[in-house]
Amino acid sequence: MTEKARRSFIQNAWGMGAAALSTLAAGSVASSAQAAGVELGGKKPVFNVPQVVLPVVGSEELYPIRRIYCIGRNYAAHSREMGSDPTREPPFFFQKPTDAIQYVPIGAVVDHPYPSLTKNYHYEAELVAAIGVGGKNISIERALDHVWGYTLGLDMTRRDLQRALGDEKKPWEIGKSFDYSAPIGPIHKVAKTGHFKEGAIWLKVNGVTKQSANLNQMIWSVAEQISKLSEAFELFPGDIIYSGTPENVGPVVKGDVIEMHIDGLPNLSVKIV
Ligand code: MN
Repeated sequence: MTEKARRSFIQNAWGMGAAALSTLAAGSVASSAQAAGVELGGKKPVFNVPQVVLPVVGSEELYPIRRIYCIGRNYAAHSREMGSDPTREPPFFFQKPTDAIQYVPIGAVVDHPYPSLTKNYHYEAELVAAIGVGGKNISIERALDHVWGYTLGLDMTRRDLQRALGDEKKPWEIGKSFDYSAPIGPIHKVAKTGHFKEGAIWLKVNGVTKQSANLNQMIWSVAEQISKLSEAFELFPGDIIYSGTPENVGPVVKGDVIEMHIDGLPNLSVKIV
């Protein structure tokens, strides 16, 4: 999708009109002001910061994104290829900014810009869980009750920068959390899909299979991820969790077409431009 198309999607997604747009914007200003302990008292923000939203499949509703959490090294074979020992490592998390979202409609091949600064740009195919009920210290047994829906996404990574920063014990930020680094499909309500505990996950580049695994190979299940994450952060509706990628991550270059699949969800495709 071009920048113009992306903007027009966001505008359209915002309710096909100024009325809906202002409702959403005012609501989000009010709620963030309240979260920060600021009394609005009739004051108005100097500009609107867009609320990032995703369409909900089979519905006129939009799912607003609050935070994007990502789990690292959650499949044993991928953990080994990244130089870690999967038997000893507790789950760890990082975040991407919400405006790293690049929405990929079902059936579309969206243009995805090759980012600056990297010479080793990698795909990571991942299941994404979308939270609908927040909480702290959520038990594993109740964790899936907090899921509103699911989708699939790419955790795009400047691998050379991620590695270099890691070697220097610096944050991964510019390796992981840059613009457009989170291509993602629309949200599917859990009532329609059920929970994802097993099933094929694969990724092809130009029709050639690169990643191929099963969701049941995750070291930490979605329920365990939610439980663990909620020990560190209070979760809220609108939080989404990228659940980690299987082995055989690898590079793409301009002109490549990525297609990814998870059993039970429509495929997602982007073209690197
Ligand atoms: Mn990842």
